[in-house]
Amino acid sequence: MDMTAERKSNILIKIYEREEKAWRRGMKKIRFAWHCHHNRLMEPLTEPISVRRKFIRENKPKEEVPLRLRLLKEVKGKLPREVIRTGEAYFKAWEAYNKAYRKHYKEIQALHKKECGCGWDGKTIFPKGGEE
Ligand SMILES: [Zn+2]
Repeated sequence: MDMTAERKSNILIKIYEREEKAWRRGMKKIRFAWHCHHNRLMEPLTEPISVRRKFIRENKPKEEVPLRLRLLKEVKGKLPREVIRTGEAYFKAWEAYNKAYRKHYKEIQALHKKECGCGWDGKTIFPKGGEE
């Protein structure tokens, strides 16, 4: 990965961090969504649903996008208490993991560079213009 790509990915991480912080502040309790991923019925949201929608629009195969967007929605009704409680624990662990990941991102990048050698541009293994 060249310096520009590395700088770009560091900037992206900062932006995500800011968006997530703002979202977390506004979030009083854990939220769940239907069909966040095609192979899960329901799961706790670890990011704003708008961020997931944007990701789907920009990254999923064109023919899958309309169905994915139509089915992705927040759970409105009451879920079992145990599901909510463990969902909260899952979310907290996810946050802690991301914090550690960001803190050690440079080391992870260096390890990836050593072990992989793919076209990862800081965002995807399918960089625009194809694999190097
Ligand atoms: Zn790779």
